[in-house]
Amino acid sequence: MNKEFDKTDKILDISLEKEAQVIYLLDEDESLFRELSDQIGIFGYEINLLKHYKELDSKIKAGKWHLLIVESRLLNSKLNLSENLKQLKNEMGDDLNIIFLSQEDNVDIRLKCVKAGSSGFFLLPLDINRFINRLNQFSSRGDEQPYHTLIVDDDVSVTEYYSLMLNKAGIRTTRAITVSEAIESMIQNKPDIILIDIYMPECSGIEMAALIRQEDTFIGIPIIFISADQTEETQRKAILAGGDDYLTKPIEPDHMIKLLSSRVRRARQIRHYMERDSLTGLLNHSNLKEHLTREFNLASRTGNEFCFAMLDLDHFKLVNDTYGHTAGDQILKGLARLLEDRLRTTDIIGRYGGEEFGIVLESTSLEHGMRILNDLRELFGRIHQNYNNMDFFVTFSAGIAKSSDAMNSDDLISLADKALYTAKERGRNQVVSLRTHNKLNN
Ligand code: GH3
Ligand code: MG
Ligand code: MG
Repeated sequence: MNKEFDKTDKILDISLEKEAQVIYLLDEDESLFRELSDQIGIFGYEINLLKHYKELDSKIKAGKWHLLIVESRLLNSKLNLSENLKQLKNEMGDDLNIIFLSQEDNVDIRLKCVKAGSSGFFLLPLDINRFINRLNQFSSRGDEQPYHTLIVDDDVSVTEYYSLMLNKAGIRTTRAITVSEAIESMIQNKPDIILIDIYMPECSGIEMAALIRQEDTFIGIPIIFISADQTEETQRKAILAGGDDYLTKPIEPDHMIKLLSSRVRRARQIRHYMERDSLTGLLNHSNLKEHLTREFNLASRTGNEFCFAMLDLDHFKLVNDTYGHTAGDQILKGLARLLEDRLRTTDIIGRYGGEEFGIVLESTSLEHGMRILNDLRELFGRIHQNYNNMDFFVTFSAGIAKSSDAMNSDDLISLADKALYTAKERGRNQVVSLRTHNKLNN
């Protein structure tokens, strides 16, 4: 084996071993444990079986972040389990999430789980993609950024006070005194949440919320009002203008931090579902296109060129037909993970369609982009796909084009797509670049 191969093998190892997280399953027998281990292991999660509640208590309290999965039937057979779980959840707060898996689905059992402190409820047999998505949200993945709050108040000492209070709790803050400052900050800093004072000289907080809510891009950002005004009329108006909560002064810091964190967590969850593809966790079609358009407009202004590539798995229908649809899903997920591991965090990766992926390679020349894609292609083609003890290989074809050769983002997609089509025509498992709609390069 030559040196080059040594290097890539090492990279592969790292990508598969990365970030294993410990999860506990509380269950009396091993059948569900075996099934879950198989299914979630490939996504980098490790699961441990606990047969008795007593074991759980000490293990959970010893670590930092935990996820506990419980078979809902245990709530019927174990007398104090519900109480014990609830108490543990109260003690651990956000450091423990409990997910129940259930054979039956009715309001009664769902309510029992909620009373036992559940943060999630999934029916068996498990929809593994939805489940992994939820695990990713509970673990640090996809939520590594500290929460960011924009504080809008004309009184500088007040903004300083809240800033200090939130910073202490690990929440980032930006402050704005005027409407234009606030809007500018929303565009620049993309805060997770906004705190607005009701009474300000330039315009009221309520008017400001109405203004924010008119903008599509800000629609998902929660707004919390803060005011000494306790009248019902003002509170009603604030909520009608698009506010999510109304806090009256004096504000208990702990309450404010909890409320704010819970709002942000939920907003991020919603955003995740809106923007991401459920199988791979990559950007979905519409968001990938949105990012691409934004990049294109930016590149046109700055002259900083980038590349766009389209990848399509080769003979994927045959792969599904031969090894099964679940094997196909596993391969799509594996390729997504490989792209995330091997590309830079500034690159934008999305699932363009079924077995098609789109990649924006920032500040990259066409030649360099070709090299990157060819490396990825070779790496992916050498991965032993393993399913039900069958060992096989899968390849992809790709087309690539650079931003300065296209008139707009749709044109860039169409250039990359044409190049991809050519790669398929020429026999697949290759990368082709396209400069204009008529001239091919490779
Ligand atoms: P080519 O090399 O020309 O691209 O051939 P192909 O078989 O890959 O292309 P075709 O467009 O004929 O088939 C695409 C296949 O991709 C068919 C479809 O079942 C499969 N596919 C699309 N989305 C998914 C998915 O989410 N999961 C799985 N397992 N398969 C998928
Ligand atoms: Mg294909
Ligand atoms: Mg296709």
